[in-house]
Amino acid sequence: MVNDEVRLDRHGVTPDLPKSRSRVRGSTVFLRCFLFPLVLIAVTPSVVLLLWGCGVWLDGSLAALVTPAGFARVLRHLPAPSLSAALMICGFVLFQAVLLKLLPGRVHRGPVTPAGVRPVYRANGIGALLVTHAVFLGASAGLRLFPAGILYDRFGSLLITACLLCFGLCLVLYYRGLRRPSGPDAGSTGHPVLDYFWGTELHPSVRGLDLKQLFNCRVGMMSWSLLTVSFGAAQYERTGSVSSAMAVSAFLQLAYILKFFYWEDGYCATLDIMHDRFGYYLCWGVTVWLPGVYTLAGHYLVTHPRQLSWTASAALLLLGLTALALNYSADEQKQRVRRTHGETRVWGSPPKLIHARFTTGDGETHRSLLLYSGWWGLARHFHYLPEFLVALAWTLPVGHGHALPYFYLVYLAVLLLDRCGRDERRCREKYGAAYEEYCQKVRWRIIPRVY
Ligand code: NDP
Repeated sequence: MVNDEVRLDRHGVTPDLPKSRSRVRGSTVFLRCFLFPLVLIAVTPSVVLLLWGCGVWLDGSLAALVTPAGFARVLRHLPAPSLSAALMICGFVLFQAVLLKLLPGRVHRGPVTPAGVRPVYRANGIGALLVTHAVFLGASAGLRLFPAGILYDRFGSLLITACLLCFGLCLVLYYRGLRRPSGPDAGSTGHPVLDYFWGTELHPSVRGLDLKQLFNCRVGMMSWSLLTVSFGAAQYERTGSVSSAMAVSAFLQLAYILKFFYWEDGYCATLDIMHDRFGYYLCWGVTVWLPGVYTLAGHYLVTHPRQLSWTASAALLLLGLTALALNYSADEQKQRVRRTHGETRVWGSPPKLIHARFTTGDGETHRSLLLYSGWWGLARHFHYLPEFLVALAWTLPVGHGHALPYFYLVYLAVLLLDRCGRDERRCREKYGAAYEEYCQKVRWRIIPRVY
């Protein structure tokens, strides 16, 4: 049975539950603390595997997947977990942990947590990106120890193995957060299923290594980058060349990932890191969902080589790179204003700021700045628009043959809309009247004059 009491932390560390009352209606609790997380845990692995199967066995046709024959075909060919895949995954995670720990890089302190802690990160993402790709390409194309397209060839087995390993890891994280947490930002909501799904710790670490930085950045984003390179190589191994559609799509994805690692410090001040605990939602999300879903366009292009005209290639590159620059500029603007305590210029003028306060769990009051000029004066989450556009630019090269590669775009749109709402609820809770004032000054949520 689900008990009807939910223990809540400050600033919504517990996911999107009614914050004003510590006791909420039993049916709501049943849905949010038991059924909803349980359904997501049960359904999301199947979705990833079905999408993979649809790409490999049904030519990327989602319409075929929903027919009994198509569905049965994918089920018959579902990949099996393997020891070699487990060794590849564990070796990769260990390698990333060593790079994170040993590569030189500035020590960076993240934003203060609800319990008043400032987590420590190492800023060596670009170094890790270069070393990882040098080792992968050196071992495959250089020493010919394995074909560079190996990740495409073994993708199904890697996905299902990662999925099973991650189920176990999330269980370890769950117990560790309850019994021996790494810091004070930990605890139970009183609901085991929700705790497993959402996590019991905000910043779990092992021997000083921050697990969120390791998994979100170095495992999730790094594997996306390696998969993109490997998918390009797999197309070359099959057709003897890399099509312009693959080149444009891969180039934009790699540019996005390079920007991510350049801006990794900034990522440590985003919702994933500041707000979301490290449980199934994040840990499984970045280890299985991200490699399985974000790479759909590249995966599809391996067996669908298309040649784009020079004009189409140039237009897509222009759209993607412009959107990437705008997204970076918005993130950078906000972080620079905070870092310099407002002593900077935004679009050539002094920034317009709201001075906000918030209180952490240890009772201390802190100050913060809410920017309402520049991109942050156009809309409260304007940067989500270019985030979507850059993904559109690397997906459009797949053409209009099948719907599968567009799945990521639909998912991203839903994710960003949901995230916008979650972030605003969290900010209202944290800053109260100051955030209301910001919402009055900046009326639009994402697209000025539209939404
Ligand atoms: P944001 O970068 O929007 O950060 C939200 C936080 O910024 C808020 O919680 C608040 O934190 C602070 N903030 C909000 N408004 C203001 C303001 N006006 N002035 C100053 N600070 C403010 O969050 P995301 O984590 O959603 O996005 C980060 C990046 O990641 C973006 O580039 C986004 O596009 C990208 N992204 C990519 C996704 C993907 O899967 N491809 C998914 C989601 C995001 P505080 O508590 O510090 O005040």
